[in-house]
Amino acid sequence: MADIIQLLPDHVANQIAAGEVVQRPASVVKELLENAIDAGASTIKLIIKDAGKTLIQVIDDGKGMSITDARLSFERHATSKIRTADDLFQLDTKGFRGEALASIAAIAHVELKTKQGQDDVGTAIVIEGSEVVSQEVVVTPKGTSVSVKNLFFNIPARRNFLKSNAVELRHIIDEFHRVALVHCDIHFAMYNNGSETFNLPVSNYRQRIVNIFGTKTNEKLVPVNEDTEVLKISGFVGKPEFAKKTRGEQYFFVNNRFIKSAYLNHAIASAFDGLLKSGTHASYFLSLTVDPQTIDINIHPTKTEIKFDDEHTLYALLRSAVKHSLGQFNIAPVLDFDRDSSLDTPYHFDKKATSTPTIEVDRSFNPFKEETRSGGGTSTKHVSFKKEPAANWESLYVGLESKGNKGHQDFSEVHFESEETTASVFADDKAVEQIHTTYQLHNKYIVSTIKSGMLVIDQHRAHQRILYEDFLKHMTIKEAVSQQLLFPLQLHFSVQEIQILNQLKEDLEHTGFVFSNVLEESVEITGVPVSVPESEVSIILEQLISDVENEVPDAHFSATDLLAKSMAKSLAIKTGQALQKDEQEHLVNKLFACKEPSVSPTNKATFITMSVDELDKKFI
Ligand code: ADP
Ligand code: MG
Repeated sequence: MADIIQLLPDHVANQIAAGEVVQRPASVVKELLENAIDAGASTIKLIIKDAGKTLIQVIDDGKGMSITDARLSFERHATSKIRTADDLFQLDTKGFRGEALASIAAIAHVELKTKQGQDDVGTAIVIEGSEVVSQEVVVTPKGTSVSVKNLFFNIPARRNFLKSNAVELRHIIDEFHRVALVHCDIHFAMYNNGSETFNLPVSNYRQRIVNIFGTKTNEKLVPVNEDTEVLKISGFVGKPEFAKKTRGEQYFFVNNRFIKSAYLNHAIASAFDGLLKSGTHASYFLSLTVDPQTIDINIHPTKTEIKFDDEHTLYALLRSAVKHSLGQFNIAPVLDFDRDSSLDTPYHFDKKATSTPTIEVDRSFNPFKEETRSGGGTSTKHVSFKKEPAANWESLYVGLESKGNKGHQDFSEVHFESEETTASVFADDKAVEQIHTTYQLHNKYIVSTIKSGMLVIDQHRAHQRILYEDFLKHMTIKEAVSQQLLFPLQLHFSVQEIQILNQLKEDLEHTGFVFSNVLEESVEITGVPVSVPESEVSIILEQLISDVENEVPDAHFSATDLLAKSMAKSLAIKTGQALQKDEQEHLVNKLFACKEPSVSPTNKATFITMSVDELDKKFI
């Protein structure tokens, strides 16, 4: 039989390799910025059009390339940064694979202009889908400019796979931050669709963080510095009271390279143990310097994960350094053990002497108080359901009372009330209540008996569903019920957070928010939806921004939906909150009055049932 194996043509091999290096416009941004840094640039400009789908350009004033190098830089495995495998363990550059330019050129239209300092003229090369279109001598400033146009022009599937401009831009800005944060000795500027998004002059680390994340950040930072034989740590952690509901501002750099490490993240989290409100995450901007021989950055093609020789020691050092800083800067001693636990404090104390907590259900968001229960106090024994959503779950309860209360309650007596806002699955009669009793389990689940066995409801998810449907209803009918604030609320955000808020402003106004002023780094709010307590506004908006940032929009993406989900998530009663009997029952009733009671807005089960049969089996 004839031989069938053949070598792939270069452009095919390059396209395949490109798939690993270039997932989206942000990957190109990362590679180009890193090349500019490796070239010793002191000023780097990033120019973006249409979230990088039309243009990504990086201009540096680094060392430039000779004519031959300019041509060679587009070859696969062509690098000036390592020569032998041993060099891999002494890396002081970002790049080393020699793949980036070759990969990018395989899937885009690339124009390179470069000139070395001592030369009079430079080189311009145009390369499209790995084919050199032109190479000429040009007059150009010292340094290098790489323009990448029409990314994935020859891989339509890839191009179609790109997310909305907002999402792709978000990724680009993330990469820009990751690079700019740790190189404060370089002047960075970023332009998006012709306007300047960031201008970061040479500064110290603290100023760089502030320039990126907004002036308000300054007061939030606690310095962390530790110098040991194996590890040098420098940077900042955010004060606990500024902890965010999201993991947004968490940055580790190892030898000036951004990395992700769940393990080291845990070290920080444990240093903050007892200082954070549950569900919040500390910010950190920490730069670790270790001997390059003790790490292996080679394990991940896009290099955000690295392997340490001695992770345990790093963990312990990092944890103690952060703890020490928090203590030194009077963060930890602020703990006041006599404090009333019901105060709205960012701290919780595990070792505090136990006192029965009085848990307040969020006043304005308590769905239970709004309702007057049907038939309360009367002797009418009926089970009433809201007619419309009564579809599948009603059978859970139907017939239950007739078993225990023959004569009082009969299936035929069940009647439906279409006017009711609440479907009462629980009759009010005392005798019946015995059977319908709800129990709260671990301040997390609500357990109740049903016809076939038992029902277990996740209180947090259930309430999310209830609020979500409520918000959606209000938004779609544009019924903006707004509550005027006595004093305008001034909230601070970073430049890019303001950008996101601007996109959402109109929808937010439909829910009842009134923005009187939107500035570069702050907003002024004079009205909030009636259902939203003033103290929750900043948390809601912060959560919303992060939800938008992380949203992977699909065909059904809608800002209203996202907003409703996000607000429901922020305002729903939490796991850990004790509920009174009637509150439990109302939650159950409200849940089953929803259009889709069985799942949370994020499609997770709100309740499960367990039949007597299943229980029986467990006792065999
Ligand atoms: P790597 O960075 O892994 O070496 P790249 O494909 O990113 O691989 O770049 C190939 C080579 O091109 C680099 O090793 C470097 O010599 C040269 N190069 C790329 N970008 C620049 C730049 N902005 N300035 C100077 N030289 C550059
Ligand atoms: Mg490179």
